[in-house]
Amino acid sequence: MQARGLPEKDCTVSDKSQTAACPCGNTTTKGKVLAYAACCGRYLDHWGSQPAPDAKALMRSRYTAFVRENAAYLQASWHASQRPQSLEFDPASKWLGLEVKDFKLTGESTAEVEFVARYRHAGRAVRLHERSRFLREEGRWYYVDGEQF
Ligand SMILES: [Zn+2]
Repeated sequence: MQARGLPEKDCTVSDKSQTAACPCGNTTTKGKVLAYAACCGRYLDHWGSQPAPDAKALMRSRYTAFVRENAAYLQASWHASQRPQSLEFDPASKWLGLEVKDFKLTGESTAEVEFVARYRHAGRAVRLHERSRFLREEGRWYYVDGEQF
């Protein structure tokens, strides 16, 4: 909700949403929690200049985009063949966390990421377990579709 569509220079460290822990829960190799600006924020707030380097980073950033209700980023990173016309966020749902289970390249420009995302919907805990497919076009990764378990 914050920072949507802001020019890059407006994203300062005084903005708490930039320095708070990234919603995707990513950590450094030493187990230190990454700040939003050092994690998915690099891609969410800089779609034009800094694409996610691989499908896993894109997947994490898309989870964070759902948490932050950044529809523009979700649509931009959705492959054109599958992209929904519009997106709506359910106010009764609250995202609780992400766990990336598996990440593999399945070809020169294709990859799969398996993850579990947890959220609460109207007080009920829901576990979304999906294997997502990604495609790279002109150096940029896109989410194509996913198969739920
Ligand atoms: Zn992140």
